[in-house]
Amino acid sequence: MTKSGTRVRFAPSPTGFLHVGGARTALFNWLFARKTGGEFLLRIEDTDRQRSTDEHTQVILDGLTWLGMDWDGELVFQGANLERHQQWADQILETGHAYMNDDAVWFRMPDETLAWEDDVYETVSFEGKGIKDWVILRSDRTPTYNFSVVADDIDMGITHVIRGSDHLSNTPKQLAVYQALGVDPPAFGHVPMIHGPDGKKLSKRHGATAVGDYRRQGFLPGAMTNFLCLLGWSPGNDRELYFNMDELVEAFSLDGIQKKSAVFDLTKLTWMNGQYLSRSLPAELVPLIESELAEKYGIDAAARAAHVERAVLAVRTRARTTLNVAYQVAVRLDAAFIERDEKAEKMLRQDLEGFRHALEQAARHLEQVSEEGWQVEELDASLRALAERLELGLGKIMQPIRIAITGGTVSEAVNELLVVVGKDASLRRIRAALEWEPTVSG
Ligand code: GLU
Repeated sequence: MTKSGTRVRFAPSPTGFLHVGGARTALFNWLFARKTGGEFLLRIEDTDRQRSTDEHTQVILDGLTWLGMDWDGELVFQGANLERHQQWADQILETGHAYMNDDAVWFRMPDETLAWEDDVYETVSFEGKGIKDWVILRSDRTPTYNFSVVADDIDMGITHVIRGSDHLSNTPKQLAVYQALGVDPPAFGHVPMIHGPDGKKLSKRHGATAVGDYRRQGFLPGAMTNFLCLLGWSPGNDRELYFNMDELVEAFSLDGIQKKSAVFDLTKLTWMNGQYLSRSLPAELVPLIESELAEKYGIDAAARAAHVERAVLAVRTRARTTLNVAYQVAVRLDAAFIERDEKAEKMLRQDLEGFRHALEQAARHLEQVSEEGWQVEELDASLRALAERLELGLGKIMQPIRIAITGGTVSEAVNELLVVVGKDASLRRIRAALEWEPTVSG
């Protein structure tokens, strides 16, 4: 037993990937356990033999680990407790709280009111009379969910059941089983459902629902946990960003969980991810983009470590995913990946002459800057001097250079960009862009 004695569990069925809703439930349990100095246990509810697989279990464990959660003790596999479930059912049968019908064991629902103080929904009550008797052991002697979950929660010494509010109507059945067994029930806290922006229950129609998909799309685990825990929980102040799990544990309490459903807002998650990327060190980001750089762009990050790091530092505040960091780094390392975006095309269409004039002047002018002088401050001064001499606004010089070097109109400051790309490569790109013609759009 731990000092607080708090024991919670996450009890996924290994019949699919780790859903973001499941991950959020796991996170609330984990945070509560860590906050109270208790234990967070995992129970794999693998009673559906047809659909449960080891691969799915592994995907769930990997997802939890990726999100920064650890668990205490051994994994519990529900399927291994079959005999125990049968014994408990027989015991209930003997005490008259259940009866046989068609070879199945049926639980006799009591008529009384079944109520509890929910950690989230406050007083919740159901009339036992309104709930029909139900099967606890099927004719093949396998237990049903509402029965095995109680048996396992008792066996595991669970003190708080924190789970989705879709289970609210299961709780009176489970309470009745606790009563029949003469065991004090744990505390219950039901967390609100997660909806899509249209107010409907979150599903694939709204986008990715698997934690693994977000991982593959270039989201950082820190941003993901931060985002997930704000789905239905609020710290009671305006704080939204938590840069590590310790901060989250510190801020968390069950009191902050809200009754109303939460909205999965991908724009917010993406923004949050950008915040995390901006604050990540190259040493943290490089390992996360290495394989994308190698596979998609044929760039060996280890062989070009200094160059990659410099580029990462320059682009991390303007990227929303690690995949986009990798793309921006690739563009800076290799001109082959320049793709002109719509705004760049527009500029070429509208003022090809001005574009070329600026680049011609810039090429001549920048050629004069020495290798040693190819530094952020020197280039800043140099570009300003050029704009002044040509009597052009700074933007009229900067934007063509930016487009020539990246293909787009948004990047780090141009002087910084020139340093990241390097003198020779920058000049090559500027000269190459002198030959660009606007793409004729259809
Ligand atoms: N396997 C159940 C689920 O995934 C567990 C529910 C519970 O926590 O009791 O919904």
